[in-house]
Amino acid sequence: MRKAPTILHLDMDAFYASAEQASKPSLRGKAVVVGGLGPRGVVATASYEARVFGVRSAMPMAQARRLAPNAAYLVPRFALYKSVSEQVMGLLHALSPLVEPLSLDEAFVDLEAAGAAWDRDSARRVGERLRTEIRAVTGLTGSVGLAASKMLAKIASEEAKPDGLVMVEPGTERALLGPMPVRTLPGVGPATGDHLRRAGITTVDELAEAGEDELVRLLGKAHGHGLYAMALALDDRPVVAEREAKSVSVEDTYDVDIHDRVRVGTEVRRLADRCVGRLRAAGVSGRTIVLKVRRYDFSTLTRSETLRGPTDDPGVVREAAARLLEAVDTTGGVRLLGVGVTGLADYTQEDLFAQAAGERAELEAEEVAETPLAREEPAQERRWPSGHDVRHAVFGHGWVQGSGLGRVTVRFETPDSEPGRVRTFRTDDPELEPAEPLPLVRVVPSSDPPAPSGPSGPPGPLTASAHRGRGAVDGEAQVSSEPAIFPKSRSGKEGGAAPSSP
Ligand SMILES: [Mg+2]
Repeated sequence: MRKAPTILHLDMDAFYASAEQASKPSLRGKAVVVGGLGPRGVVATASYEARVFGVRSAMPMAQARRLAPNAAYLVPRFALYKSVSEQVMGLLHALSPLVEPLSLDEAFVDLEAAGAAWDRDSARRVGERLRTEIRAVTGLTGSVGLAASKMLAKIASEEAKPDGLVMVEPGTERALLGPMPVRTLPGVGPATGDHLRRAGITTVDELAEAGEDELVRLLGKAHGHGLYAMALALDDRPVVAEREAKSVSVEDTYDVDIHDRVRVGTEVRRLADRCVGRLRAAGVSGRTIVLKVRRYDFSTLTRSETLRGPTDDPGVVREAAARLLEAVDTTGGVRLLGVGVTGLADYTQEDLFAQAAGERAELEAEEVAETPLAREEPAQERRWPSGHDVRHAVFGHGWVQGSGLGRVTVRFETPDSEPGRVRTFRTDDPELEPAEPLPLVRVVPSSDPPAPSGPSGPPGPLTASAHRGRGAVDGEAQVSSEPAIFPKSRSGKEGGAAPSSP
């Protein structure tokens, strides 16, 4: 392990919810919950004000509404989050070529790779400057952890939240980790946590005291061995730069669990065809076909099959997916199905689903947009998802506060306005139309003619002053490739998710 705390972990604070509060002055300081608002919706992010009521990520939306009935409930605006993410990742890439994104708002950076930092003082300076830059460029706050290993850097950023920086001095790792619950360690999920608790092990210290032999006996060789090393704070995993996006997947959630085996087969075939459509649209082909099945009890299985050569043949993908399905027990019902293809021959299933896990909140929130019920909503209702941007011919830019019964309520405000007023319109009012998100930080055009904005509407070029001399950062943000060609926010294209109850 390295001697200096030069691995940085950045995690934006309550990212989606903070972006919404930055966009919507009337929601600042208020409880905000972003996620799927349909019957199967889950919380993607809750603002700190909502967390006070016990609302947490991945919680069913119905439970969140019971805990915080007066919070603002908003449908995610992924185009905005993605453009802010590109700005943040651009700042990270300016520090080091070794940036490993874990999700839209979270990444490891190896500060030693390009000499950005070499000891604790330089690392702290870089971390603080990064936080300042993130705030200047995005208007949002991020927390930074610095340590000599990835594991400790991530734990440190968690400790730093919100809006802070924590450095774990080399040599103090074990003392810090010791009293923490075993679940703090990477790879200890609920099942392993329960298993260890039954063996009387609840803290990292107890894990270390149990000894390697005992952990191998309890958890098997690979897991026991790895966990023992983690308990001793030994983590040599390198920061791995993001690889080129070469995976494509699609998935659907069903409002009513599917029990009929024939119907499951039909759905998988349909997903395989959709997946191939995306594969071809992206101009890639893949060797490994992956099937994902979430069952009635929320247990999720993934199965994969690697072919001899890459394919984008619908027949081949369909057959492989059907073979994989044969090996999955679906009695009891299926609530989600997914089919994916990995494009790189050396891409492992683990890589794909590590990325998938990173995007999980995003996908979960999107599921609402894909449910058959949502698709059957009348067109005029679907145009107004809560929280999404609109423009009125007379009143200007605003966002949907709620809709239903042929009415849509709009609050007219922008990121740099005062909290705005609310007005109600008919859902088919010809003067009201969906709009693109506005940038969170007002953009001052540079003297050079700006490049045209991308289709997702990223904020335009930033001023040099906002970058503190890093004029090229925005360009780099554009260059950085996406973590994966995962399902994009279809809510935008298809007109949005189910309308919320007002
Ligand atoms: Mg975060």
